[in-house]
Amino acid sequence: MKRRNFIKNTAITTIGIATTRNLLSCSEIEEKKKSAITDKEKASLPLVIATWNVPNATAKAWEVLQANGSALDAVEQGCMVEEADITNSSVGKGGMPDRDGRITLDACIMNKDGDCGSVVYLQNITHAVSVARKVMEHTPHVMLAGKGAEEFAVANGFEKEDLQTDNTRKALESWLIKSQYEPVINIENHDTIGMLAIDTNGDISGACTTSGLAFKMAGRVGDSPIIGSGLFVDNEVGACVATGLGEEVVKTVGSFLVVELMRQGKLPQEACEEAIHRIVSKPNSDYKNFQVGYIAVNKSGVVGSYSIHDGFSMTRYQVNKNENVQSDYYLKQSS
Ligand code: ASP
Repeated sequence: MKRRNFIKNTAITTIGIATTRNLLSCSEIEEKKKSAITDKEKASLPLVIATWNVPNATAKAWEVLQANGSALDAVEQGCMVEEADITNSSVGKGGMPDRDGRITLDACIMNKDGDCGSVVYLQNITHAVSVARKVMEHTPHVMLAGKGAEEFAVANGFEKEDLQTDNTRKALESWLIKSQYEPVINIENHDTIGMLAIDTNGDISGACTTSGLAFKMAGRVGDSPIIGSGLFVDNEVGACVATGLGEEVVKTVGSFLVVELMRQGKLPQEACEEAIHRIVSKPNSDYKNFQVGYIAVNKSGVVGSYSIHDGFSMTRYQVNKNENVQSDYYLKQSS
């Protein structure tokens, strides 16, 4: 899959405090923070970042931002690119099915005013993120699930279609054959497309969309449609979006945690790292066997990303440059 053509690119603009965290004295950390403030002032807007290697999606969002479009339009249209791409097996059409062969989608969106909408267990509609936006804009609710979400989508002009492809059918068949099958971290069971953008007005929005864990139990819902877990936007502070094993993100209310940590003064990189630490330091955490990754941006356009395992990356489009940036990760420090 194309998003896993990870480009080894360490030219990340975030501040690498945590990689050396245990080695730095308090005054050195303060110095780093001061230089980060200088970086903040230099951060150029607009910008868009996304989980994984999705240059087509960030390019679409960038096109919207460059035309002075809103961050909300940018993240919706960026996510739609991946939803429509049948070679992307973790979102929209061609997303991986549950173990009964149903493709069920989760998505959410949040705007600069703190309004949000989400859909859960949505079937037969490719653009889950757009249905989530309609929930936000045209209902008094935040979340619609299952049949109700599908009926709402159809009533709002979305076409029902078969989301299965030859690839998803074959994948399910081979999963059913392997009785003790364990999905491979970063390869088979992850990849919510999460996107955060800041527009030329300096306003922030975010969205995420996923078919959830491949071969999940029927009815399973992950973090991605849950505001505060899979996504959180606070236009005064910044935003965060998650990918990986949703259960672990939900248990720590991950995206809200990252944004609140930024509100308390942490840089996006530090906040993502702290949120990952919360997961791996839980008693009996089985973190060696699952992946979680966060990307975050603060109001000034400084970005950060962090995961438990190697292999997670973020795509960033800023200052006319669309690049995939390999994220730093927890296991590097702990090994
Ligand atoms: N977070 C998604 C979920 O748990 C899946 C993923 O990002 O890989 O449903």
